[in-house]
Formats: sequence, structure tokens, C-alpha cells
Amino acid sequence: MSNIAPWLEASLSQVQALKKQNKLSHALLVTGADGVGQEELARAIGKNLMCEQFEQAKACGYCHSCQLMVANTHPDYRVLEGEEGAIKVDQIRQLTQKISQKPQVGRNKVVLITHAQAMNVNAANAVLKALEEPAERTYFVLTSSQSSHLLATIRSRCLLVNVPTPNLNQVTEWLQQQPEGDELSSLFWLTSQPYRLLAIEKQQKTALYTALPSALSAMLLGEQTVDQILKGVNNTTLEDYCNGLAAILHQCINHSAGANLPPALTDIYPLLMRRMSIQQMMLRYQSLQKLKSDLLKTNLNPLMQLTYELNQW
Ligand SMILES: [Zn+2]
Repeated sequence: MSNIAPWLEASLSQVQALKKQNKLSHALLVTGADGVGQEELARAIGKNLMCEQFEQAKACGYCHSCQLMVANTHPDYRVLEGEEGAIKVDQIRQLTQKISQKPQVGRNKVVLITHAQAMNVNAANAVLKALEEPAERTYFVLTSSQSSHLLATIRSRCLLVNVPTPNLNQVTEWLQQQPEGDELSSLFWLTSQPYRLLAIEKQQKTALYTALPSALSAMLLGEQTVDQILKGVNNTTLEDYCNGLAAILHQCINHSAGANLPPALTDIYPLLMRRMSIQQMMLRYQSLQKLKSDLLKTNLNPLMQLTYELNQW
């Protein structure tokens, strides 16, 4: 079984201990800052709960349920991912109908709802109803980075499991064990959220981000054209370019106020300072944020808009 990230261990042990004592609440809400691994922890909790050796704290890894979990085909384990958009009431109803039946394999049933803040009001009320009249041996595991956006009546029925935010050393050490860990560690100027970095690697966007600071430096030195910098822009990378450019401006603005400069931005910082005042950087930063939200909801040509933006640098 793969090891869980070190900063998730304490929360997992806490849940495992309650499980072993048969005192675990039937509703859990895993909270924490964005990208720290709530989903990872929730999935580990789900695995533990599905194991047929239910008097043990941890999943055995060998029983039929454990094997089905590894194969991702356990019929009594249901997942709703809220990351892709709103969770609707029909999805919850389908789910609660399924779990009202007896478990098909082991003893327990688990419903995992990630990014639970994505539930609309009707969906949230349907979950609340399910929590109020819990089906036998059914556990709800919810995750959210914005648990204050959840219905208070849902929150109050859940055992809160908080995921702490790891420090940079912990994240660096953990990244060393991941594919492309070195490259990902060089992206701390963009984010130090470990699971956001991992998602970037999974989407094969690491190279896009790592190349950005030096490409922009070359542009500011007149060695590359705006067209060359933006040749990878399309509808699926547009947000990445906006995020990357905004993050570079943000770090440079912070550095001018005394914060440490991430090593990857050593070259671009003096070049930008020569070109723009701090106030202009702030304006460009705001303009990028606006561009990002406009581009997501309108038919503006992304390449044209970003070209215009970079021509202001
Ligand atoms: Zn097992």
C-alpha cells in the first residue's frame, strides 16, 4: 500500500483509532486549505472503511473489498467529484437510492463527495436528509476547502477532520518522491500547494510553467517575440498562461516590499523593475485577473487578448 503524505498521517491515525474503537461518526468532513490533500486523506479513510477486517484500524489490503478498491470497482463505494462543476440534486438522489440497498460485498458502504461546496442548495438538502436518516453501515465522507460555504446543518452533523498546511520543507521533501519532483519544486513561485503541483504534472503542464519565467525574460531583453512566448496558448492552456503571468507579477510586487524572491525569478525581477513601476505591475496583475474571468465566460480570442496584455509589459 502506498504511503500517505506525512502531514496527513496524524489526521488519518485519529480516524483509524475511532474506527477501531467502533466510535467513528457516520459523517465526516475533511477540511483544509486548497491543494493540501483533503481528497487523498478522504480516499484513504474510504479504503479503511471498506476493508472487511473492520475490527482493524487500517485496511488489510488482501480481502475481497480491498482488492475491489484497488481495482476501483467496489460496488458499495460511491464517489461524486465536485471539482468539475456544480453537484446537482439528481446525482445525490441516484446515489442515496443506491446506498439504501444492502452492501453487495462487504459490511460497509461509503459515499465520498469531494469539493462538497460545489453542491447546489437542493443537492445539499438531499445530503442533509441522508445524514438525518442514515442508512445502516453507510459512511459519508465529504471534503471541502471552503467548509463555511456548506450548510451549517451539514457541518454540524459531521466529524471535522482538519488537514494541516505543510511547510515548504515538508512539501519539498515529499515532492522528491514524486515523478518530476525537482521541476515541481522549482514552481514554488506559482504555488506551494503540493496537490496542485501534482495536478500540474498529471496534466503535463510542468514544462509550460517552468519555461515561462525565462521566456518572459528573453522577451523583455528583446530576444524573443510575444508571438513566440504565446505559441502554446489555446483554450486548454489559456488559464495557465494567465495564472503564470499573474503569479510572476505577484511575486515581484511582494519582493519589492521585502519578501523573498523565488530563485526561478532572479533573472526576470530586475528586467521587470526596469520596465514597470510597482503600480504598473499591480495594474497588469489586475488586468490579468479580469482577463481570466472574461475569457472563461465570453468568446474573446484568447491569443489576441494575451498578446495585447504582453505588449503592455
Ligand atoms: Zn481488507
